[in-house]
This record gives sequence, C-alpha cells and structure tokens, in this order.
Amino acid sequence: MVKTIGLIGGMSWESSVLYYRLINTGIKQRLGGLHSAQLLMYSVDFAPIERLQHAGDWDGAAKMLIDAARRLEAGGADFFLIGTNTMHRVADEVASAVAIPLLHIADATGTVLRRDGVRRVGLLGTAFTMELEFYKDRISDNFGIDIVVPELHDRQMVHDIIYQELCQGQVEPESREVYLAIIDRMAEAEIEGVILGCTEIGMLVEQQYTDIKLYDTTAIHAEQAVALALE
Ligand code: GLU
Repeated sequence: MVKTIGLIGGMSWESSVLYYRLINTGIKQRLGGLHSAQLLMYSVDFAPIERLQHAGDWDGAAKMLIDAARRLEAGGADFFLIGTNTMHRVADEVASAVAIPLLHIADATGTVLRRDGVRRVGLLGTAFTMELEFYKDRISDNFGIDIVVPELHDRQMVHDIIYQELCQGQVEPESREVYLAIIDRMAEAEIEGVILGCTEIGMLVEQQYTDIKLYDTTAIHAEQAVALALE
C-alpha cells in the first residue's frame, strides 16, 4: 500500500511548487505510467510566520505549524514533511503534537551526506539555519559531519536574498554570482560539498554552476518522501 504524504507547505509557496513536482516525478519514475503521489498539502500564509521568526516568537510559529500538522493528520496523511529548513527550529514541538511521524529534513540530508562519505560540508540557508544550533547540531551530532558556515557579512547576504528575492519568486543572475562567490570562499575551508539548506536556493544555484557537490535539501527531502511512501 502506497502511503499518503502530508506536506506543510507555503514557506515559501515557491518551494512547495518544487516539492509537488519532485514528489510526483519521483513516484512516476518508480511506478510508471499514470502513477502520481497520494499527497495532502496544507499551505500556510508565510507573511505572519516570517514576522514571528524575525520577532523570535518561535512558540507562536510552532502553534501555526501544529495546527497545520493536525489538519494533515485528520486528512489521512501517513507521515508528514515540513517544507522548509528554518521551521525545523520547532520540529520537535510539531512532531510531538501529532501521532504521524515527521520526516525531518536534516536527517534526510545527513543520511545522503553519510552515504557519500562527506565529513566536512558548507551550509547555506537563512541566518536562523546557519546560526542557531537546531540544524547544524542535528547533522554534526547524529551523522558526525563538520558544518562550515559563511562569515557574517556573507550570511547576511544569503539571508536577505532568500527573503527579499527567492521567497518572492525572483531569481536574479547577480544574486547567483553572490552565492557562487560565497561558495568559493567557503571552499577555502576544505569542504567536500555544500548543503543548500533552504528550500528555495535550488531555484538560484544549480549543480551546473559549480564544481563543488551541492546537496539540495528540497530534492533530498522529496526523494526520501517518495521512498518512504513506497516502503
Ligand atoms: N524555505 C526556507 C528554508 O528552507 C526559508 C523560508 C523559511 O523561513 O521558512 O529555510
């Protein structure tokens, strides 16, 4: 029996579009023909969530995601995903509010990094993801992988481009150059790859632009959701 995937989307909806396409493509590749994913999405309004993040009100943001997770559970999802790295800051609270399991984005990513034998990796994402412990520690503690983040000024540029451009559907070639330059600077720390640890970055930076191996968390998360649905 193929499982029904639950997705808390909308953070931003630009990346939910990618999830929807990737998950359906993955199911089609595995099952063929007219097969597509059994999927429920609850897509939130991102504006109030973004305000709560920047105000440091993670409890308020958690409440919104708990409400979303409960709707997915009530709708019949067998397991669920939170379609953003940043909001995994409240993943434990959300996961414990429902009986269905959460497929954690950092665990999905750590599994792939370990499979590839990566021991030291760069991380791009929002300032929350690059600076707080919830994400870096989960990968370093559970998978034994060192995480390198850009220096402060670079982190600010990465963060601003996410909220001011990518989450609003804007993909600017100049911003791609900014990201590629930051990746090059991180590469001086002898990293073996870079985690695209924000679900919109794949819209801007693709593997064709750099020799450094990229780990796109949206693609990894979607791929593992497909595998779990078919398990
Ligand atoms: N989608 C982004 C992420 O993966 C950023 C938006 C958000 O703050 O949730 O972190």
